[in-house]
Amino acid sequence: MTTSPDSRLQRAFSTDPESHKETDGQVDRLNLETIRQKGIYVIESPGDEHASVAGMLAKSGFEKILATTMRTDCGGASLIKALQKESCNFDLVLLDITHVGANGLELCSRIHNLKYFQDTPVIIIASKNIWHEDFIYSAFLAGAIDIVFKPVQRLELIPRVISSLLLKSERDLRKDHKTELENELAERKVIEARLQYLVSHDELTGLCNRRRLEQALETAVFHARRKQYTSALLYIDLDQFKIINDAEGHTTGDRFLMSIANELRREIRKDDILARISSDEYAILIENTTDDESLRMAEKLRRAIDEYRFSSNDKDYHIGASIGIAMLQPDEELTASEILARSAQACFEAKTHGRNMVHMFSHDDLETHIIRNAANWVPKIRDAIENDRLCMYYQPVVDVNSGGICGHEALIRMRDHDGQIITPEKFIPIAERMGLIRDIDFWVINHVIDVLSQLPEAYARQKININLSMFAFQDPALLPLVCNKLAATGVDASRITFEITETAAVSNYAHTRRMIKQLRKLGCCFALDDFGTGFSSFNYIKQFPVDYLKIDGCFIRNLIHDKVDQRLVKSMIDVAKTLNKKIVAEFVENEEILDLLKKYGIDMAQGYHIGRPGAELLLNRLTPS
Ligand code: C2E
Ligand code: MG
Ligand code: MG
Repeated sequence: MTTSPDSRLQRAFSTDPESHKETDGQVDRLNLETIRQKGIYVIESPGDEHASVAGMLAKSGFEKILATTMRTDCGGASLIKALQKESCNFDLVLLDITHVGANGLELCSRIHNLKYFQDTPVIIIASKNIWHEDFIYSAFLAGAIDIVFKPVQRLELIPRVISSLLLKSERDLRKDHKTELENELAERKVIEARLQYLVSHDELTGLCNRRRLEQALETAVFHARRKQYTSALLYIDLDQFKIINDAEGHTTGDRFLMSIANELRREIRKDDILARISSDEYAILIENTTDDESLRMAEKLRRAIDEYRFSSNDKDYHIGASIGIAMLQPDEELTASEILARSAQACFEAKTHGRNMVHMFSHDDLETHIIRNAANWVPKIRDAIENDRLCMYYQPVVDVNSGGICGHEALIRMRDHDGQIITPEKFIPIAERMGLIRDIDFWVINHVIDVLSQLPEAYARQKININLSMFAFQDPALLPLVCNKLAATGVDASRITFEITETAAVSNYAHTRRMIKQLRKLGCCFALDDFGTGFSSFNYIKQFPVDYLKIDGCFIRNLIHDKVDQRLVKSMIDVAKTLNKKIVAEFVENEEILDLLKKYGIDMAQGYHIGRPGAELLLNRLTPS
């Protein structure tokens, strides 16, 4: 039933695509053909055959018209019944109320309450006799979008129909956008929740992991102080777990670790926090307890593990555990990591006293340990600083898209008297503890900027990343040092990227953030190192003024085989893209990892596969700038 379009409509909604060029996208997509495909439900009055509204619509080319005639029953009950049976959405209802009079408005509201008509605009068609401003007002209140008075003329009807259909389309579009946005937000929340779960639980046993334990410890420290009670942390190390792992393989080893987790679960109280903190180490946080109670609990756990028999391949295995206890006293100012270190120290003492024992931390143990360790290291570090035995190694970083080296990360080393190279894990933590880190941080800055300034002109835009300790960002001398050094050497600030770990960033958030902002003002860049290990909320990272996020190597190293890591890395890349930050992966140890990361959309990569840290910058592989 198609006739040629009304000439007025032709002008407004030409089907010629050229005529839409300047209009907005919405109208552009809604050409007359689309409008004519909209579903219209027409409810006519009996005896209107000669001036049928459905007929007029058909003449104007509308194709999806469902017409019915209003029966003169009490208030249109049979009509509502018929509409209730409809199971598809209509874009417009034309309701002729001539035969039901004022009841027509009631009918209009009832139509709006029907499942498939809730969002459908209704145009009322009414007799001219009923014309009254009150009536019109009530009709709009009843949900009508327009009113057409009889006798209906096609010339008047069609533009109104089209305008109502356009309005409806726009409303639908807006609703779709809103739903899309809501879905996106919900998805982001799910990603965050998933990340939070994954980063706080141990995949093998389902217990909390080290990170989650540290958080719980922080809360426990706060509780101990506020509620004035004592809590305890038990550090459990399985003695010679390696025997099972070596003899029976990793799968059996994993099974054993799970059963130990279950044994421990059985013994603890409902509110105690049980965590697996490394391959064969567990920890239990017990709040509101006493020294004696926690000693009794530790002894009970030690005995349970001692009596436990694990069978594999017809062999029974018996394993012991060394347990260290550290107490959280209400009046002692300790951080979570200090308490963890104390319990580990006590566990170490239990081991050295013969294994399968419980030992409670005592200051004497710690002092002897620290003193023993520091006594060895402090003079060595001092000597290295003073006698130029610190040196830098450089690891190349590639731009994954171009494949070219885009910079290097500077990694400190120490040379001992025999010329042996010592890696930073051995001396940086002690330097941090013993107040020597400031000298190291400042030495690194001076050294790296000197190296940059001495590069041949052809490499005058090469960049180097510098790792700084968390103390550096709280040191007011840092800014003038960087400023003066850059000025003295003429090195452009944009060639330096400072790396800061997530934990360092959190430790004195406001202060660190301020310092970073000032250094960025100079032109230096910033990278959040070890991203993912102290996973803070999306919002927090959003506010942190860094240019790069560096995914920690522990998520990358097993990427090919570890599905959890794959999910995490994808989510981290997703977070970085949303925040408009570049994302870097470290520990890229083979081609397969690099390929997968490329597929995920990583920006930069570094690792043994690309280049091991070495004493020289890889100038031969650099593209001169
Ligand atoms: P980081 O900044 O996360 O450095 C990455 C570490 O991963 C480096 O260890 C690097 O040698 C190692 N690595 C790189 N690629 C791979 C790989 O493919 N596989 C494996 N297994 N390891 C890889 P490094 O040099 O021992 O440094 C350890 C940490 O010491 C650094 O972690 C950083 O936090 C700190 N550090 C290094 N240099 C400095 C420095 O100059 N100043 C300060 N304050 N800290 C530094
Ligand atoms: Mg680093
Ligand atoms: Mg790192």
